[in-house]
Amino acid sequence: MEGHEVIREEHVKEVTRGDPPLECICQGIPPLESHIAMSLAATAGKVIKCKGQTKCDTPRACVAEAAVAYKPKVPLVLEDILVAPPQANEVRIKMMNACVCQSDLYFWKGKDTEKLFPRILGHEGAGIVESFGANVIGLKPGDKCIPAWQAECQKCSMCKSSRTNICEVFMFNWGSGLMASDKKTTRFTRALDGKPIYHFFGISVFSQYTVVDEACCAKINNRADLTKICLLGCGIPTGVGSAWKIAKVHKSSTVAVFGLGTIGLAVHDSINYF
Ligand SMILES: [Zn+2]
Ligand SMILES: [Zn+2]
Repeated sequence: MEGHEVIREEHVKEVTRGDPPLECICQGIPPLESHIAMSLAATAGKVIKCKGQTKCDTPRACVAEAAVAYKPKVPLVLEDILVAPPQANEVRIKMMNACVCQSDLYFWKGKDTEKLFPRILGHEGAGIVESFGANVIGLKPGDKCIPAWQAECQKCSMCKSSRTNICEVFMFNWGSGLMASDKKTTRFTRALDGKPIYHFFGISVFSQYTVVDEACCAKINNRADLTKICLLGCGIPTGVGSAWKIAKVHKSSTVAVFGLGTIGLAVHDSINYF
């Protein structure tokens, strides 16, 4: 067997605990931003029942949907999931925009070591804080944000080093597919049978709601256009960083860019700042 197929049984109990789900509003949350504050308040602190093709049989649940990867190279499945309330130091985000990155493809193909399935992929997107757990400071419902997979605890030796930003706490936890807070639980379960679903890069943005550690939630200006700024979740900083930090491009450099996706375009644009 390649990697884990399912999460252990004790994880099921962990992720299904907590408050009962909210009342179902199966027509979905209106996409207009004027309606968002109302919908966020309605779901805060509750389990969110995610929308799919099945009839909503859980009382007091609200609506979302997720794209779940079940096996390498098998198309993602849009289906119901339950998104548990954020625990201490965690934030639940209503995702508004998400992008597909080459790294999603890499993990979807099962080229990584762990090959965790089922899993919710996606690591480039933007959304709005819906609720938060204990001890969270500096974030509130309604804040626009970018889920950040390259988070920093700011306490470990790697974070304190000027030579790297590969945090021991968050970057080293990716392979588990579990929350960094306890390394035992997920916040996603299938609505059909309660089976847990792994996280991806600590953020899993291919879901209408996701739960992340507060360190993985970068608050942004609330005037930002989420349809564009979502690219800051991976592609643009990867391209800019490649040119500025890795290749150390300078004013007299001659640069060849191979490929003009988000990263290539970001490289191209970034060198105009010298
Ligand atoms: Zn990426
Ligand atoms: Zn750290």
